[in-house]
Amino acid sequence: MATVLDSIPSSAAGKAERLVDKHGRAITDLRISVTDRCNYRCVYCRTGTDGAVYAELPIEDYLRIARVFVSLGIEKIRLTGGEPLLRRGLTDLVRELSRLRTLHGGLLDLALTTNGHLLEEMAQPLRDAGLSRITVSMDAVDAEKFVRITRVPGSYERVLRGIRAAKAAGLAPVKVNCVLLRGFNEDQIAAFAQFSREEGVIVRFIEFMPLEEDRLWTLASVVSMKEIVEGLESYRPIVRMAPNAASETAVRYTFDDDVGEIGIIAPVTQAFCGHCSRVRLTSDGKIRTCLFSQSDHDLYGAMQRGGSDEDMVRFIRRTVEQKEARHHIGEPGFLKPSRSMVHIGG
Ligand code: SAM
Repeated sequence: MATVLDSIPSSAAGKAERLVDKHGRAITDLRISVTDRCNYRCVYCRTGTDGAVYAELPIEDYLRIARVFVSLGIEKIRLTGGEPLLRRGLTDLVRELSRLRTLHGGLLDLALTTNGHLLEEMAQPLRDAGLSRITVSMDAVDAEKFVRITRVPGSYERVLRGIRAAKAAGLAPVKVNCVLLRGFNEDQIAAFAQFSREEGVIVRFIEFMPLEEDRLWTLASVVSMKEIVEGLESYRPIVRMAPNAASETAVRYTFDDDVGEIGIIAPVTQAFCGHCSRVRLTSDGKIRTCLFSQSDHDLYGAMQRGGSDEDMVRFIRRTVEQKEARHHIGEPGFLKPSRSMVHIGG
């Protein structure tokens, strides 16, 4: 594989103007989906049957795109999917991406989101390849409820082993993301609080968004931030923590004895679009400027037509400029986005 530093666009990091959208938000965070295949069928994400068409780019092409983005001041890359650990060549990609840090004075943050099913075997190789941090999705700490959500037998034990392996490999602090869905796991709030304290992981509750393949979402199905706070307080008094960064999406809490950390990400009831710093690249090479965009921007198409790195820079700047001011979840006339979460990259 050609390495990432073989050719660096003339707009190398620090020299080029950074990416800013027309609302004045600096775009510093890129999520790259490396596959839209997934080995779980979580009820709030995918349908039970598989009629989907999947699309992936060669690893070298993700690398080239990432390199161009980093030259435009991207400070954080998160690899996602689909399920990124299914992707052949993932460790090589991480190794090459971690070399981009030299462009950034060592500051590039390289993270990955996974369902954890294959993590026990992959945590150490990913860490050795240069991954900084990992987030594992886990929607129940009760094995039966977990399987009811993932629809994969034995999944709970595997994910738990994956989380522990990630900690042992030094991918700390491990974050555990939980989407609460009424009727499935809204009774898991206290159990997750305890899990955070016992396992030494940061648990983050995420409000359910209308991004699923099936039509399940209603406002009533969302377990709101307010309910989550109440659930935590009935377990043990909580204490609000300061945000880590201005663009942080989670409201952070610990408990009265400083043990454990909980984040609440509330895109539905407390939207944070005003300080959104993200863009996404889908596994088939399209830029999405918002989870709820109605259209994609075909960067890969421009690349395949022979676009130079400078052409890609222009394409990216034009696209980012058009980033939506905010989403409209729950408002009259809200349209579901043109892709579901698994084909966007969460
Ligand atoms: N397969 C990986 C995983 O499970 O983390 C990465 C992709 S997954 C789409 C990324 C995250 O999106 C997961 O934490 C998942 O729970 C979350 N997610 C999926 N559908 C969602 C929805 N409709 N609302 C909120 N979060 C969702």
